[in-house]
Amino acid sequence: MSETIFSKIIKREIPADIVYEDDLCLAFKDMNPQAPLHILLIPKTPIEKIADAALTQQSLLGHLLLQTGKIAKQEGYDAFRLVMNNGADAGQTVFHLHIHILAGRPFDWPAG
Ligand code: AMP
Repeated sequence: MSETIFSKIIKREIPADIVYEDDLCLAFKDMNPQAPLHILLIPKTPIEKIADAALTQQSLLGHLLLQTGKIAKQEGYDAFRLVMNNGADAGQTVFHLHIHILAGRPFDWPAG
């Protein structure tokens, strides 16, 4: 997998507004927020997209999901929407798996 902008954020080679970090993951504010709260949560291990994740990464993926609620709450929100774009045709632009955590405005359903 080639290096992405998110790998550079993990290595602190480029700046980001980091709101949470542990051994496995990093969360930072999206530079182009689509809601009052827009956080990107990424694994430190580079995985291109969710469809590429391996069975051995099951606990890492569970860890990421469990952190979303904690991060939203830390930022002052109980209600939030999670989005993962898998592949360019689904809108993925950075090929390092990430979960968008969005909150602070109404969200349409079905999602656009
Ligand atoms: P996606 O389209 O699902 O791949 O989402 C990629 C997201 O990364 C977009 O919402 C971008 O605004 C965001 N993004 C790209 N570069 C940066 C960066 N350097 N810092 C913060 N967010 C970024």
